[in-house]
Amino acid sequence: MKIIKESSNKNIIIPLEVLKASKILNSRDLELKTVENGFIVMKGTMNAMELIKIAEGLKNLSEDLITHLAGICGRCDDCSYCTRFEEFDEILLPDYLLEEAGIPINAKLCAYTEEDSGEIVVIESDHNYDMADVPQFVIDIFEISGVCIRELEENLILENIVYGDE
Ligand SMILES: [Zn+2]
Repeated sequence: MKIIKESSNKNIIIPLEVLKASKILNSRDLELKTVENGFIVMKGTMNAMELIKIAEGLKNLSEDLITHLAGICGRCDDCSYCTRFEEFDEILLPDYLLEEAGIPINAKLCAYTEEDSGEIVVIESDHNYDMADVPQFVIDIFEISGVCIRELEENLILENIVYGDE
């Protein structure tokens, strides 16, 4: 269900059906919880079963979102990236080397080499996100269900729209 965001002011209109469907229409108080890229309006006062129901709903929503992303990435047919994914590790260099190279200490790094060159070049990545930023629970689900990690990383690096219309 989509909620209309009014562009004329900074308010969000929540349709009555949404309030009814979520059973918060007659609630005495409402609480707003923010999460990154979203928020939840929930009853400010709940009994145990109401609390369990909202926790279950959020868990289901979380699973739906991950399943959606998995569907976008698709199944892996044993690509070389996924079969070697466990071997990939974070590149760690001493701070003084980074400072000397003019690379911020917290910068995301990437490395490349040419076969048998005896040389590895480490540079500051020009992308914001890659697999190193993905929480372990997402990686675990993707690995268990055979979703292509390379596809996920490509979507992360290119910052592709994976949900909704662009
Ligand atoms: Zn793959």
